[in-house]
Formats: sequence, C-alpha cells, structure tokens
Amino acid sequence: MKTYYVNTKPQANGDHEVHQDDCRFLPAPQNRKHLGAFASCRGAVTEAKKTYPTADGCAFCSPDCNKG
Ligand SMILES: [Zn+2]
Repeated sequence: MKTYYVNTKPQANGDHEVHQDDCRFLPAPQNRKHLGAFASCRGAVTEAKKTYPTADGCAFCSPDCNKG
C-alpha cells in the first residue's frame, strides 16, 4: 500500500494531480490533501475525484493513471 495525496492547486490544464507520498513532485503540505493508503493509483484517483472531478495521476509517480 502507498499513501497518496492530491494537489489542491490545479495544473495549467485544470487537472489536480495525484501523487504518492515519496514523489519528487509532491506539493508542499499547505497545497495538498491526504487521500489515504491505496494498493494502486487507481483507487487514489477515484477518491480524489470525489473532491476534484478533474483529478489525474502524476506522470512521474503514477503514470498508469496519467491521461496527459
Ligand atoms: Zn507524483
């Protein structure tokens, strides 16, 4: 299981990126929301979408869930 966070600030394209807690692009503490521990990025993105419908996996730490 990995711990995931979602960026509370949207990217330029409007997406809110979902990151693992060890990602080099993990946002600063004041700019992220804790999602919980998930077996894969898919569960984390599903959780993040409850808050941010435009949530998407980070291309670096969660490429399987990145739609670009
Ligand atoms: Zn990331």
